[in-house]
Amino acid sequence: MTFDDLGLAQPILRAVHEEGYEIPTPIQQQAIPAVLAGGDLLAGAQTGTGKTAGFTLPMLHRLSATPAQRDARGRLPIRALILTPTRELAAQVEESVRTYGKYLKLASMVMFGGVGMGPQIDKLRRGVDILVATPGRLLDHHQQGTLDLSHVEVFVLDEADRMLDMGFIHDIKKVLAIVPAKKQSLLFSATFSDEIKTLADRLLNKPQVIEV
Ligand code: AMP
Repeated sequence: MTFDDLGLAQPILRAVHEEGYEIPTPIQQQAIPAVLAGGDLLAGAQTGTGKTAGFTLPMLHRLSATPAQRDARGRLPIRALILTPTRELAAQVEESVRTYGKYLKLASMVMFGGVGMGPQIDKLRRGVDILVATPGRLLDHHQQGTLDLSHVEVFVLDEADRMLDMGFIHDIKKVLAIVPAKKQSLLFSATFSDEIKTLADRLLNKPQVIEV
């Protein structure tokens, strides 16, 4: 199987080829068609398996295939939200979004704590399609009224087991309460504890389950 067999749009394939990727990894071979089909996904995958492209590529395809509707203030709404446990992972994932989406007209942003809110607010005002964030700062913005998540169509929890280990369960529940109920949700985790299963039951609707 090659990337060309997966049904991804040409501008995305071009970026993938430029990265030098020839063959989709096992997680990509399974996750990309599952995400393109539009349903929820529960994926067991460690770092280094290519999981980031596994959710980023089909997410970019979906967003580029459906134009965004401007909100009441004329802004492009956030349509994809990716939550990660750490700043480093958030920055890496957003870098991947930029790389794979470089031939698409989609704006991405990374958001985490420990830096000023002002520049983040400015960036949000200019319009963001894809937001990669750690939970704490995301909730700070929401509480301040500087973040609207009511148009999120795709929601990704990356390294969910690490998020729970780091004590983010309450923050995750708060985020789930402010994103639309109707959305495509993808949960990636290296391990499947009872806690992860409980979270998956709460978040996912008849998910396709893949493990590599
Ligand atoms: P990840 O597991 O998402 O952190 O990805 C691990 C590394 O594999 C990253 O450096 C990617 O650039 C690289 N990678 C992802 N998919 C492929 C692929 N299909 N072929 C070769 N390298 C890849």
